[in-house]
Formats: sequence, C-alpha cells, structure tokens
Amino acid sequence: MSDLAILGGAPVRSGSTWPEWPQYDERTEHELLAALRSRRWAVSWPTDGTRSRERRFAEEFARYNDVPHAVSVDHGSSALVVALEALDIGPGDEVVVPVMTWVAPVAAVLRVGALPVVVDVDPETGCLTPETVRAALSERTKAVLVVHLAATVADLDGLQQVTEEAGVALIEDCAQAHGARWRGRRVGTFGRVGCFSFQVGKVLAGGEGGAVITSDEALYQRMQQLRADSRRYVDTELAPGDLELLEAGEVMGGNYCMSELTAGVLLDQLPRLDQQHAHRDRMAAELERGLAALGDFGPIPVPEHADQRSIYEYGIRFRPGTFGDVPVEAVAEAVGAELGMALWPPDLPLHRSVMLHPHTKNRFRLVWTEQGRARALGREYPGAETYRDTTLVFHHKELLGGEEDMADLVRAVAKVRDAHKELL
Ligand SMILES: *Cc1c(COP(=O)(O)O)cnc(C)c1O
Repeated sequence: MSDLAILGGAPVRSGSTWPEWPQYDERTEHELLAALRSRRWAVSWPTDGTRSRERRFAEEFARYNDVPHAVSVDHGSSALVVALEALDIGPGDEVVVPVMTWVAPVAAVLRVGALPVVVDVDPETGCLTPETVRAALSERTKAVLVVHLAATVADLDGLQQVTEEAGVALIEDCAQAHGARWRGRRVGTFGRVGCFSFQVGKVLAGGEGGAVITSDEALYQRMQQLRADSRRYVDTELAPGDLELLEAGEVMGGNYCMSELTAGVLLDQLPRLDQQHAHRDRMAAELERGLAALGDFGPIPVPEHADQRSIYEYGIRFRPGTFGDVPVEAVAEAVGAELGMALWPPDLPLHRSVMLHPHTKNRFRLVWTEQGRARALGREYPGAETYRDTTLVFHHKELLGGEEDMADLVRAVAKVRDAHKELL
C-alpha cells in the first residue's frame, strides 16, 4: 500500500485544525448590532443626523490607502463597472485585460459595451507585463485593466509608462491586493481608479462589497452618482430625518450601493488588516525557508519595487517536471489530503474557462461578433499555461496559523514529490 494519504496512507497531519476565515469577535458583533439597531440599513434611508456607515467606511478606506477619495459599492464586480463608466468607456472602445484572473474584469468590460482584449501574462507572476500590453494596443484602446494577482504586484512602473505613452487610462483591480505597496505607495493609487472587492474570501472581508478609490475629484463626483442612481452626498450638515443623498443627475447611474450592515462589518475589519498582513508575511517567510531547503519549489516572485505584498492566495511554484506527468490538479489534491486543507491550481486562463461565454447572452451580441471574439481572444497564451501548470495555491487563512503549520506544509509537499509516481 502507498504511504500517500490520498491512497489510504497515514497523513502528515491529523488532529490539528487550520485557522478559520472570516475572523470576528465581540467587537464585530457590536458593530453589526449597532448597524442593525440604527434602522438605517441603507445609505438611501433617512439619517438620524449622523453619516452613514457606508460613507464612514469609504472615508476610512481612503485614509488607509492614503488617497483623497473612496466610494463604497456592493461588489468588486460593480467597482470595475463604476470605474469603466466613470472613464466613459463604452461601445467601440477596447480595454486590455489579463487572461489569468477571475472572470469579473472581462465581464465588467463587456457589461459597459466595450471589447475586452485578453492578453498573455508573465509565466512567473501571472500578471500583465508592459510587453504583452504594448502588443495589444490599438486606436480603439481606452484603458488597461491590470490585476495584481494572488500574492504579488504587477510591474506598475512599466505599466504606467506604457499607458502614459499610449495616452490611455490605467485601472487597477486590487481585489486580491488590499494594502500592497509599490515604492512605498498603496496599490490602487497608481491608476486613475483602483477597484477593490470585500467578498468574504478576500483579505478584507465584508461578505459582499467593494470600493473604488481615486485622487481625481471629478471622477469621485461621477463615481458617487454611478453607484447610487445618479445621487451623491449632500453638501450640508445632516439633521435627523434628512436624506444623505441628493439627486444630482450629472451622469446616469445604477444602484450599486453597499448595505449599512456590510459597512458596519467592514469598519470592524479594516483596522485588523495590517496586523494580519504582518502575520501572513512572517509565516510566508517561514514557509519559504522550508521550501527553499527542498529545492524545486519557490514562491510567486514579488518585483523589487513591491515593498509590501498582500497575500490573497499563496502560490507555491514548482520546477516543471517536479511531479513527473502528474497533473497539477492531482498534486493539489494529494498535498491537501496530507494536511486536511484545500489546495488547488490557479483558475483556468480565461480563454479556456466556461465563465467567459458571452455568446450565451443576448446583451453581448453586438460586441461579441465573430470579429469581436477574434480580436478579444485571438492570441496564444503560453505564459498563462506555464503559470497555471506549475503553481499550487491555497487560501490566505492558513498563513494565519503558526510555525508548526508551515512545517507541516513543507513536509506534505516533500512527501508528495518523493512519492508522486504512486499517483500515476
Ligand atoms: C474577487 C474578484 C473580483 C470580483 O469581486 P466580487 O466582489 O466578487 O464581485 C474582481 N477581480 C478580481 C481579481 C477578484 O479576485
């Protein structure tokens, strides 16, 4: 019989548990109950004379990112739509997006009527590079939507340069990178707009939720209205019974407002974020020491100028051939079985994903023509294939564990490497 846990052997680890996510305590319960008891529940409901939690959270989040403006929204997906609409991107326009990401960035471009031009990524980091972007630019390009993926930061110097030269906007999708820094500055502040998600799995969790940040006052005014059916905050002091939103109508909006209950939870979670980052960084360093000693393994590289990473999914990269012909899915399952935790390969690159099927919806028929599809996806994606085939990822919650947990991870990876032939 095999030693491997997935084939019936004794696991590396039994009896001990991994940290839970999301994390909450009495303070969280207090914030949530206070929001409940306020009966406010929505930013669009009459005030008790105080500002909404939705607005207070936006102010705190702007302060956290050291940027003048933030607008709370209901999802990260909505943040992307609001950003694109704020820049007036629509039919006839193209937006360059990476092939290696969650489907939301591409879906958002389609939702505003523009064409996503899906390009390859760096095989080591899974992120857009200035070269892959430059090769995809056209007269129709209006923006580049960069995703800081998993546990790293894209080359912001290079991407700023290429977008400035081309005269197009840079938009940052920071749904996996809250609090990361590039040259000392928070990510999300390098593009015209930075977009965030607070879906429960992200490092800043509110259940569902999102935000857009900008230093551009005019974009801020537009984004307020784009998220609240053309309303923005009133300029006057609030008295009990007042509405906090005013029908401004300078731009046609939709309703992407964040619930007050969500904002209450986020106000509790935000002050915990940097401490959690510090803990994850310590554990990641511990894990990396162990992996380095094994050979064959290493972390997703972090560019020199990214002086703080944000680990959403930790990626263990391995030398091609480390597990012979065993597919990465089977490796992930085998390592997970040793540990009683989940590991998986990165999401399929979007050209192979069932989540990107715009032809299934009438709404996209004008943009997703044969020609549109060819322009969107008519490229090779070798960087994405390499990244996907040589990376194992796991959720950031496990990095909230201790040194023993990291040692178990290293032992499990080594055990599966040494016995991988049994998986064939
Ligand atoms: C999670 C995520 C989103 C979408 O956020 P939601 O809040 O789930 O809508 C967008 N982009 C990336 C890169 C993500 O990881």
